[in-house]
Amino acid sequence: CGIIGILGSHEVSPQLVDALRRLEYRGYDSAGVATVDAQGRLDRRRAVGKLVNLSDKLVHEPLPGHAGIGHTRWATHGAATEVNAHPHRSGPVAVVHNGIIENFRELRQELASFGIQPQSQTDTETVALWAAHYMDEGASPVEAARKTLSRLKGAFALAFLFDGEQDLMIAARKGSPLAIGHGDGEMFLGSDAVALAPFTDRITYLEDGDHAVLTRAGAQIFDAAGNQTNRIEARIDTGA
Ligand code: GLU
Repeated sequence: CGIIGILGSHEVSPQLVDALRRLEYRGYDSAGVATVDAQGRLDRRRAVGKLVNLSDKLVHEPLPGHAGIGHTRWATHGAATEVNAHPHRSGPVAVVHNGIIENFRELRQELASFGIQPQSQTDTETVALWAAHYMDEGASPVEAARKTLSRLKGAFALAFLFDGEQDLMIAARKGSPLAIGHGDGEMFLGSDAVALAPFTDRITYLEDGDHAVLTRAGAQIFDAAGNQTNRIEARIDTGA
């Protein structure tokens, strides 16, 4: 339902939770964050119910790191449980998703033929499982995300984060809004400019079919045909 991503210069967990709080008005049943820490370790925390449950959990089990993604979930496939909450993870890949992956049953069946079983009931987890599978076969994170995206049917906004990659986030948009926020040596991603308002007023909306490779140095945006493209960067009145 709500997506936030940060390649930052501070501890991002509190920033992620603050940004998710700004997306609360959209409604949600669970929430979660994943980060990559200074050693390159990917980890996540998730909680059912209100964001305060997630922030309480983060007090007792802190999640260090300057790169992270966060999500508030409005369940479409699978009950509102912690196992079904985002970020979904498989091996080195963590994913947050808005929307529906329509062909997830077929994608799941094909994974089962490789002996890969999901942990959750969600459509989203298949995205993480496929990306991890491609990496297992030798693909780089960017290649693995691209290969996975080419397999997906439905409506989605997606953000990928990878173990061992403190300066990489991949975003994709098809039928569900997603915006990049440009900071000073920092990059942001949000399903809504409202989520980005505390961080920056320089926003680039991805267009349908786009995916973007984000580092702190900037964003490379690719269109549905895979060609690198430019999208307009606008200044948004954040009311701040
Ligand atoms: N279809 C996904 C799920 O049920 C994402 C729902 C959402 O947009 O929050 O987990």
